[in-house]
Amino acid sequence: MTDRYAVIGNPLGHTKSPLIHGSFARATGQDLEYSAIEAPLDGFKAAVNAFRAAGGRGMNVTAPFKLQAFEIATELSERARLAGAVNAMKFDGERIAAENFDGVGLVNDIQRNLGFPLKGRRVLLLGAGGAARGALLPFLAQQPAELVIANRTSEKAQALATQFASFGTLRASGYANLAGHSFDIVVNATSASLRGELPPVRTEVFARGCLAYELAYGKGLTPFLRLAQGAGAAHLADGVGMLVEQAAEAFEWWRGVRPDTRAMIEQLTVPLA
Ligand code: NDP
Repeated sequence: MTDRYAVIGNPLGHTKSPLIHGSFARATGQDLEYSAIEAPLDGFKAAVNAFRAAGGRGMNVTAPFKLQAFEIATELSERARLAGAVNAMKFDGERIAAENFDGVGLVNDIQRNLGFPLKGRRVLLLGAGGAARGALLPFLAQQPAELVIANRTSEKAQALATQFASFGTLRASGYANLAGHSFDIVVNATSASLRGELPPVRTEVFARGCLAYELAYGKGLTPFLRLAQGAGAAHLADGVGMLVEQAAEAFEWWRGVRPDTRAMIEQLTVPLA
């Protein structure tokens, strides 16, 4: 029997998940169907329960439901618990196992696809929202020489630095305090680019030969990437690889087989121009 999976969110007009998982299923010979469920804003739990009752095996969760998925989970992985958010669920009877693959997808893209190891590097993470939270544990696991979180609301960055202190060396900083510091990898995990805005970083944060990584995807050269380009960053990337890599993690978790990601990343890549 064909196993059913879905992505749930609102709005979902832009979702690439059915395309990605459909392609993974064909490439690995898995008999599954993957759909998109745009649940009403007050109807997340009801939509999940209806999907489970109809035999659904698992779901990806996107905005704005990642926190509600955290609430209904019966088993949380450590990274989902620390991120305070869930982006993948697996159903088994009454059990709802929950994961957060966003951060590991980001790390896999940076290290495996882009060839920038995090170990021993100076890393700057801009933002302290859901995506930044999810990235912290996977980043720290790679033992960067330095991990600095900068956020517009500096208290949020400070709270994250305190919460994750036992997992590695990291510190919080206000944007103004970054003056005079440069980094090998600069990750924009703010949502500024979704509105065509630039987080208040200066060109000096981009070290010679650095990677500038924009989590938003499909937007071409965002103000952040344009700034990095002007500062001489050696490599610019957007979050399309992260999107495909987190999908691959979920697929493997559900099906026990790892899909190849390269062709799908190429298919979805929008030129950075
Ligand atoms: P949140 O809403 O949880 O967090 C937003 C963050 O951006 C906050 O830290 C906020 O700061 C900061 N911010 C917003 N506007 C500005 C601005 N103008 N200047 C400086 N900081 C700003 O968003 P998410 O963490 O869920 O998402 C962040 C980004 O990551 C989005 O672009 C999203 O599309 C992308 N993303 C990509 C994924 C992928 O697979 N590629 C997966 C998940 C997310 P403050 O705290 O001060 O408000």
